Order: sequence, then structure tokens, then C-alpha cells
Amino acid sequence: MPLVRHRKVLILGYRAVGKTSLAHQFLEGKFVECYEPTVESTYNKMVVVGKDEFQLQLVDTAGQDEYSILPHSFIIGIHGYVLVYSVTSLRSFQVVLPLLGMPVVLVGNKADLSFRREVKTDEGKKLAQSWGAIFLESSAKESQVTQGIFMKIIEEIDRVDNAYGRS
Ligand code: GDP
Repeated sequence: MPLVRHRKVLILGYRAVGKTSLAHQFLEGKFVECYEPTVESTYNKMVVVGKDEFQLQLVDTAGQDEYSILPHSFIIGIHGYVLVYSVTSLRSFQVVLPLLGMPVVLVGNKADLSFRREVKTDEGKKLAQSWGAIFLESSAKESQVTQGIFMKIIEEIDRVDNAYGRS
């Protein structure tokens, strides 16, 4: 019987960048237009990556205006991070925090709003490269792209674990 492994992933980023929308799209396959600031929610979903099955626990945090001091509760027991900014908000890009040595997927969301873009694709790519992290642009309106974010973080957790001999 294949082993089901548990993975806890935190979604971090400035307010209104689309953290909740990405989580909803991933879990339910739909985009919800209305905006309700999140307090903090945890969701669970079984995910298959390659031959392996994972119990993915997603923590959707309340938007951080600044999260330069990461509370302890955000580190203990977390396997990986999805750091989200909006390509339509330079501010949201300026406050993303490097989490060096951690499995990270940096996500430039709202890529569908090209006419309001304030952050170039290349800027996101370069920042992620400088940390050795994965980079993706997304739209929470698109199911496949959104699924890709959460597949990538699971793969990245395994890659970093293997690199440090932790698996
Ligand atoms: P959070 O505070 O980071 O969780 O942000 P929300 O998920 O609540 O989204 C904030 C607002 O942006 C909502 O009105 C969403 O409908 C909208 N939104 C989120 N993601 C996208 C996206 O990829 N494209 C567009 N056009 N709107 C988005």
C-alpha cells in the first residue's frame, strides 16, 4: 500500500493579493469574486503527485501588511511556503520576505489583469532565482495554473528534503 504523507503548507502574502482565491480554486475548482478578508483557515486535500499520495494541509493566513517578523506559529511544523504577491501591486512585491533554505514557491498572482501590471515577470523570476526558489505567475481564475502551484510546492518540499538528506 502506498504511504500517504502529510504536508503542511502556509500561504503568505500582502492583503488582497489572492491567497484565499487561490486556495478556493485549488480546493473547489472555482473562482469566487467577492472579497472577504480572511481571518485564518485551514483546509485539507488529498493530492497525487507522480506515484505518491499526499495529505496536503493548507493554511490560508490573514493578509500580512508586513510579515518581516514571522510568528513562531508560522514556522513550527510547516513543510513549505507559497508566497503570493499580486503583479498589479508593487507594494505587495516589495514586502515578500525571503525564506532562505525553506521550500518556497513564489507566486505573482492576478496575471490576467495585464493592463494593471506593476511588476514585470522578470522581476519575480529574478527574485525567486536569488533565493533558489520556484517562480510561477498565476491567475486564481485559471484552474490548471492554480493546481500547478500546489503540485510544485509538494515537489519542492521533497527536493529540499532530499538535498538535506531529510527524507
Ligand atoms: P487575500 O486577501 O490575499 O486572501 O485575497 P483574496 O483571495 O480575498 O482576493 C482579493 C480580491 O482579488 C478578490 O476580490 C478576488 O476576487 C480578487 N482576485 C484574487 N485573485 C485574482 C486573480 O488572479 N485575478 C483577478 N482578476 N482577481 C483576483
